[in-house]
Amino acid sequence: MIELIKGFKDILPEGISLWQRIETEAKTIFDDFGYREIRLPILEKAELFARSIGDTTDIVEKEMYSFEDGKRGLVTLRPEATASVVRSYIQQRMYAADPIQKLFTIGPMFRKERPQKGRYRQFYQIDAEVFGIASPYMDAQMIFMLMTLFSRLKVAGLSVLLNSLGCPACRPAFKEALLSMIEAKKEALCENCSRRLLKNPLRVLDCKVPTCREAVKEAPAITDYLCKGCDDHFSAVKEMLSGLGVGYEIDKGLVRGLDYYTRTIFEIQTSALGAQNAVAGGGRYDGLVELLGGPSQPAIGFAIGFDRLCDIMAQYEKPSQKPLQVFFITEGAEAGKQGANWVSRLNQAGVTAEMDYGERSVKSLMKRADKLDAAFVVIADGEGLEKGQVILRNMKTKEQSSISTTGITEQLQSIIVNQRS
Ligand code: ATP
Ligand code: MG
Repeated sequence: MIELIKGFKDILPEGISLWQRIETEAKTIFDDFGYREIRLPILEKAELFARSIGDTTDIVEKEMYSFEDGKRGLVTLRPEATASVVRSYIQQRMYAADPIQKLFTIGPMFRKERPQKGRYRQFYQIDAEVFGIASPYMDAQMIFMLMTLFSRLKVAGLSVLLNSLGCPACRPAFKEALLSMIEAKKEALCENCSRRLLKNPLRVLDCKVPTCREAVKEAPAITDYLCKGCDDHFSAVKEMLSGLGVGYEIDKGLVRGLDYYTRTIFEIQTSALGAQNAVAGGGRYDGLVELLGGPSQPAIGFAIGFDRLCDIMAQYEKPSQKPLQVFFITEGAEAGKQGANWVSRLNQAGVTAEMDYGERSVKSLMKRADKLDAAFVVIADGEGLEKGQVILRNMKTKEQSSISTTGITEQLQSIIVNQRS
């Protein structure tokens, strides 16, 4: 047997109703808040991610699935969606039509991480990005929209973590303060962090290795280093969140694993999943559009971990399936042919109907109808058909009656509709 690759998974029909419900709810909320859907390729040039996410981040250093593709050079299975959305915003000159664009996309991402519960190598994200709006009110509105989605999905036990990463004007002073503090504890850092320390000291704050966590416990808070513009921006975000009734905590250790963020960053955490507790994360990235060759336009976005959201909801949501309305039991070749015709006609009319295509006994077929939880069973045999009659059995009340084969599909439809109301 050839098995699937570790870190990848099958989403089976039994579980799909939850995925679909979340997707429908997400699309509704995006519609309510004025976002339009965009669908993008899964494969992009490796350079797109190296330049945007940053080449001293975990994702770019070790988690990307990349391969040489002849003349195209190194290509990568996207590890996240923001870079591709930005690429498209620039390449399709969306900014020329209207610099303000509110976009969302849903699909698979790929990261070569150590597989474990809540952490897969192919996982799904619901991603939203807003271009052309620098206002802190957009930051707050985005977090509010996210929390509204979670509340419509009845997901409880979430907390909003908030921090500001400042801007190119004020971040260097923080980096320096951080660096001089950590240098004293250099020996305690993991190999990754010591290597990246000078180039990107912020990564240490994001490291999950216990000794690194311990080393940065006393680290300064970036919010103490913000310039006036960044400080005002952050205050406005917090004020609007409070005004909207969204609770939050300031987390000075929150930096997020991508380099492109500026100012507001946030993460939504759950208490329902154990170690893999981040269900969504996002932030502002005012410099990225320009960095990737576009005009200078502010932007902000987030990504929801679809798999983790499903894992939370699966704890209390029962999977649902469209109930079977009619099951046909046929005896003999002629009845089989008729039955297949009726099933097709009923399906066409939107009625769930099935039959058994094999030659099994009525008794075993009744058992199958029970297993499929059919509301009605129609029993058709050669003798009855000659008289233009079949038997209709209501599986709940066990009542049986004879109905005429003339206009049978219409009759069944109206019986089913009446029974529902
Ligand atoms: P984590 O801290 O758990 O590694 P992250 O900060 O790397 O998350 P982001 O890049 O911000 O994650 O992606 C947004 C969301 O996507 C996360 O909050 C998480 O729910 C989900 N996610 C990220 N990586 C994975 C993965 N390997 N498997 C499943 N979901 C993931
Ligand atoms: Mg990660």
